[in-house]
Amino acid sequence: MVMIIGAGPAGSYTAYLLAKKGIDVQVFEEHNIIGEPFACTGIITGILSNHFKPPEEVILRKIDSSRIFSPSGDYVDVGLKNDVVLDRAKLDRHLAKIAQEAGAKYFLGKRFVDCAKDRDIWKVRIYDREKGGTETMMTDALVGADGPLSRVAKSAGIYGERKFYTGIQVTAEAENDGFIEFYPKGKDIAWFVPAEKGKARVGIAALERPDEVFRRFVRERLGQDYEKKVVARQAGLIPLYNPKIKTEKDGVYLVGDAATTAKATTLGGINQSLTGAMCLTEAILSGKSYEKLWKKRMGRELRIALLMRKAMNKFSDEDYEKLVNIFKKEKNRKLLENYERDAPSKFAFKLALREPRLLGFARFML
Ligand SMILES: Cc1cc2nc3c(=O)[nH]c(=O)nc-3n(C[C@H](O)[C@H](O)[C@H](O)COP(=O)(O)OP(=O)(O)OC[C@H]3O[C@@H](n4cnc5c(N)ncnc54)[C@H](O)[C@@H]3O)c2cc1C
Repeated sequence: MVMIIGAGPAGSYTAYLLAKKGIDVQVFEEHNIIGEPFACTGIITGILSNHFKPPEEVILRKIDSSRIFSPSGDYVDVGLKNDVVLDRAKLDRHLAKIAQEAGAKYFLGKRFVDCAKDRDIWKVRIYDREKGGTETMMTDALVGADGPLSRVAKSAGIYGERKFYTGIQVTAEAENDGFIEFYPKGKDIAWFVPAEKGKARVGIAALERPDEVFRRFVRERLGQDYEKKVVARQAGLIPLYNPKIKTEKDGVYLVGDAATTAKATTLGGINQSLTGAMCLTEAILSGKSYEKLWKKRMGRELRIALLMRKAMNKFSDEDYEKLVNIFKKEKNRKLLENYERDAPSKFAFKLALREPRLLGFARFML
């Protein structure tokens, strides 16, 4: 039996892929309702269709263009290919539904407490929120798909060192012209993302003083009276990729944010959670090393994104002004439009060849 902790995208997609192959899968989720609460803007590249075709109700809208702002308010418009904004709660529920249809069993309101290895078997303690008691269960394989603060990782002794961005966003009534707006600034990122009709997700991710960064940005973008426009609030942690973290130990596996696989440049993590789920399924079915499989598939791009993030964290306002100017050039903008955000290495290399001025920025990566 494979026991999966967490019914987010990483847990449910792993459950679906394994159950489809006839494996006995049980998923334990601490909340009573799948997909709630969530903290996610829901932007994903066209790469989603490499995994599965989401039903229409999961897609809030397609996005054709992004607008990247410099600190002074200058901007460059960059076309996007196949990007969509997802309804994140519906995505989680869709994945859980197809996993259950494939045979996975779900247990809601059940929280993973800890685990201990007894010969070849993992003994796992699960807390039942309704009954208020703890039950011990046995499993051969334990999957920690339990998000950035993974208790599974802590209990199995593979939590490692983690650094987090704090993401804070509101869904607010806001007119928009269909552009995703990005505001990179120092170590922080801010965004305005069109969502349901007449509404947008407005938020920030920051390493330090996130409340302050959020209040400043939301006032700037929505006005001093922004509170009146807010219809929902979300907040959550986003792990910074740490290549040193072990994601596999004696039949315990970490996948998705539990494995810190969010991309350090944009801080998106849904695609990597789904890719991790595919690699984990292959590893469990074939006996190959899970860590080798996923690192071969996305380790290089995650490392490059981390290097780019480290460089961006050192940029001054002036550097961002220069960058926006560089991207305003037609040939560079075109390159950016053809850039797969999930594969930053190809783009960085081509751009450096075309625009030698960018090599000046390479000093920040050292
Ligand atoms: C503000 C914000 C905006 C974001 N925007 C985007 C975006 O636009 N695009 C993108 O690609 N990514 C985005 N992300 C990142 C994305 O949300 C994550 O990468 C993604 O959710 C990771 O999926 P996961 O399944 O690994 O973890 P999660 O979605 O965190 O799921 C973990 C699940 O485990 C459950 N759980 C936790 N502990 C236990 C326990 N002890 N027992 C049982 N169950 C447990 C949780 O309840 C949850 O259901 C954003 C994140 C934030 C915070």
